[in-house]
Amino acid sequence: MSAPVSTDTTATPPLPLPADLVATLQATLGPKGWSMDAGVLESHNREARGKFAGAAKMVLFPASTDEVATCVRLCHIAGIALVPQGGNTGRCGGAVAKCGQILINLARMNQIIDIDARDFTMTVQAGTILHRIQQAASDHDLLFPLSLGAQGSCQIGGNLATNAGGLNVIRYGNTRDLVLGVEVVLADGTVWNGLSKLRKDNTGYDLRDLFIGSEGTLGIITACTLKLFPRPRHLATAWVALGSVDGALDLLALARRETGDAIAAFELISRFAHDLCLRHIQNCVNPLQTVAPWYVMIEITSSRPHDDLTSVMEGLLERALENGFITDATLARSDAQRANLWALREGIPGAQTREGGSIKHDVSVPVSSVPALIERGIAQAHKRIPGIRPCPFGHVGDGNIHFNFSQPENMPRETFLAQWEDLNRDIHDIVADLGGSISAEHGIGQLKVEELVHYADPAKIRLLTAIKQAIDPKNTLNPGKIIPDK
Ligand code: FAD
Repeated sequence: MSAPVSTDTTATPPLPLPADLVATLQATLGPKGWSMDAGVLESHNREARGKFAGAAKMVLFPASTDEVATCVRLCHIAGIALVPQGGNTGRCGGAVAKCGQILINLARMNQIIDIDARDFTMTVQAGTILHRIQQAASDHDLLFPLSLGAQGSCQIGGNLATNAGGLNVIRYGNTRDLVLGVEVVLADGTVWNGLSKLRKDNTGYDLRDLFIGSEGTLGIITACTLKLFPRPRHLATAWVALGSVDGALDLLALARRETGDAIAAFELISRFAHDLCLRHIQNCVNPLQTVAPWYVMIEITSSRPHDDLTSVMEGLLERALENGFITDATLARSDAQRANLWALREGIPGAQTREGGSIKHDVSVPVSSVPALIERGIAQAHKRIPGIRPCPFGHVGDGNIHFNFSQPENMPRETFLAQWEDLNRDIHDIVADLGGSISAEHGIGQLKVEELVHYADPAKIRLLTAIKQAIDPKNTLNPGKIIPDK
């Protein structure tokens, strides 16, 4: 697999890394613990959206916290930057390394350390794939509720580092709400063991929360203790047609009251997004013949043994129809029908890719402001790019809209994409005006560094910079992410 570092400088171009550091890292980690092979590096340097090109010449695969600590210490002494990488599914270029930086990927640290059914906790190494954690919880009749489209390949360390959101936030919160403790390797190689099963601990600043959402800029998360929940025994899933986004908010408020806050997912889908899925995603079936400008997919769950959620959902939909909040609805009556509804929702990003170029915004506003955001955003986008095709969808129950736009039918892809930053600024201005956030769940990475500086309170930028300088004074952990590189 891995090619050794050549010492014959006439045969190969010089490495952008000190040869003695490379040799020590190789000796420390052993043959399975590193690669400089072009084929291996290609996949680790690739960023799915193609906006950033990685240029790392070395990727490390440590097998333990001690090995991570040694690598970090060696790089810190040598002044070489390390870029932590999980499943490389992030949307903001956070796990992309420049030439002269080294990637450190935790894929080999994938052990489930402990599942405690009395404390309702699970402790895992940071390289564990999210889907495996969900499965392990389920095997113990428990639930780990974090759920997102990339769950088959993202790592829990990456989920913590980006404070990932996903489909169940409305019920269980985002990653930050699901973590009790973390183990972190700091910039100089010190290990902070903050693993804990405590639900209450008021002993000073919350360091755990400092590392969650820090995108690899403050430390490398090597393990974590997660909260578990009773596994739902019943669920009901419906697909609903509506005339307006306002109607979706009325439905949401009604659903919260009628179901005793049992909503596990409440996803808004525009007609355009719905049609794209039916056009591009194989085997997707139209669940409702009613043509409507908007749809909502709603799922309710319960862990109580005798709940009849089908009746609860039917009652909710009847009341929503009576009140004029919705125009039609259908309930999934089998696993296959439910899977079809989820395929329609989760197929949207892939379907949009097949439709051509798209400009994306992962934004949030107070739930009550979602209709204003969509109305004002679409009007402004049409003004800037006539013929643009808005494709809003997302976790409307959390005020988090993936406010995407597909290219006009007759415009070359490149001409459209050249307007990415201008359109971003238009939409982000509206978001800011509505008291929202320019990054609801994907983070800042390198994609939104300038946008953060533009929109954040200067006091916040000063605090972020001061924290980074205090914890990583040599700037050797993921430089240039979140905070601008000097
Ligand atoms: P990576 O992409 O490898 O890294 C992301 C960031 O975390 C980088 O800055 C990296 O340096 C840092 N990092 C990674 N591991 C560590 C570690 N151990 N210690 C410190 N820093 C680390 N996100 C959502 O929030 N909600 C969604 O619904 C959602 N849906 C998605 C659907 C699809 C199809 C895809 C491709 C992505 C989706 N994402 C979503 C984005 C992405 O999956 C998440 O951001 C995920 O949490 C990233 O995990 P990862 O392991 O792939 O991290």
